[in-house]
Amino acid sequence: MSKQDSVKLYRLRRILNELAQKKGRGTELISLYIPQGKPIHEVIATLREEYGTASNIKSDTTRNHVLDALTKTMQRLKLYTRTPENGLVIFCGALPTNGPGSEVVRIYELEPPKPLSVFLYRCDDHFHTDMLKDMLKEDKVIGIIAIDSTEAGLGVLESNRVEVVDVITSGVGGKHRAGGQSARRFERLREMELNDYFNRVATHAKKSFIDSYNVIGIIVAGPGPTKDEFIKNGYLDYRLQKGVLAVLDTSYAGIEGVREALDKAQDVLQEYRLIEEKRLVRRLFDEINSNKGLAIYGMQEVIDTLKSGAVDTLLVNDNINKVRVVARCKRCGNEQEAIVNRDRYIALEQELSSKACSRCSSTDHDINDQDIVEYIDELAFNTGSRVEVISSNTEEGKMLESIGGIAAILRYKVR
Ligand SMILES: [Zn+2]
Repeated sequence: MSKQDSVKLYRLRRILNELAQKKGRGTELISLYIPQGKPIHEVIATLREEYGTASNIKSDTTRNHVLDALTKTMQRLKLYTRTPENGLVIFCGALPTNGPGSEVVRIYELEPPKPLSVFLYRCDDHFHTDMLKDMLKEDKVIGIIAIDSTEAGLGVLESNRVEVVDVITSGVGGKHRAGGQSARRFERLREMELNDYFNRVATHAKKSFIDSYNVIGIIVAGPGPTKDEFIKNGYLDYRLQKGVLAVLDTSYAGIEGVREALDKAQDVLQEYRLIEEKRLVRRLFDEINSNKGLAIYGMQEVIDTLKSGAVDTLLVNDNINKVRVVARCKRCGNEQEAIVNRDRYIALEQELSSKACSRCSSTDHDINDQDIVEYIDELAFNTGSRVEVISSNTEEGKMLESIGGIAAILRYKVR
């Protein structure tokens, strides 16, 4: 993801969260995803067709709500002279303000944080927010420089997809001098040209890897010794210089070199991930041992603290294997929840479904279950907390397991 204004992301996260909870009375909430570059008039034409189809809806209330929402969406779209850079997402529908019958058509326009590539129109009893939510997840981006003395390719690797973002040619002459040229003068000239080229590559790398993409590290690749010379002489911005994850030999530089480096990058990334996990677990134990109140562990305590917004980074073992079961009383809405081992949750659901509600004694429940890591991820999304799943088969993973398999490093002290 390109670097984003954190306040903008926070706002988007908060709105999405609010919208995800909304329920329509019937199938009447519109979600519209417009990809980058799709002309607005085409979208309006599609919505006009949908308007025609919606006129056949049997229920008066639902039909009127859908038609109102479509009208409002088309009116709003007409205000755009062109599609925003990353595309546009609109949620529109009749939402209750105070119980059934109080619905008012509301419209939400959101600009995606990354380029949107697919078109989506849905009319449903809820808003489809997942695609935008996915975009808000933090991606780990790696920069790749594939360099030799003739050209350099810059690429970014983002969730298994590599994109070549820049190619710089050197203009440096061959290693052999033309007849009549003095050897020293030739060497000096070549050195100056190379120096100029390395500086240009470094400037472009800073622009792409720091200003546009917030990379966590870079891989430098290429045939021969040019790449080593480039790194050794400190041309790179210091942040990139200290973020060199690996130096790889490839047969090519430039675009081909970037693609070649990608094949080898997976191993580098895996190793990087393990190092990162170790670092996180060690940081956690440092906090626990220092007694400053900035670390907690244990399922219930971590979940409560996560809900309060105090969690910075949550660590959970990949073998935690727990399920959250919620029984919601259909009569009074009272909820009972329990978190149990995966092998016990079916039995628990049966037990809960026949148990009387503690508030109204009804035995009619809605039962839902969810994997604990998914539940945690949802809670963390609300507060912008990070969730890191830690492999259990390393020494650090076992350390985490020894304190219950779930723990958190906090933003501030909670008690
Ligand atoms: Zn009840």
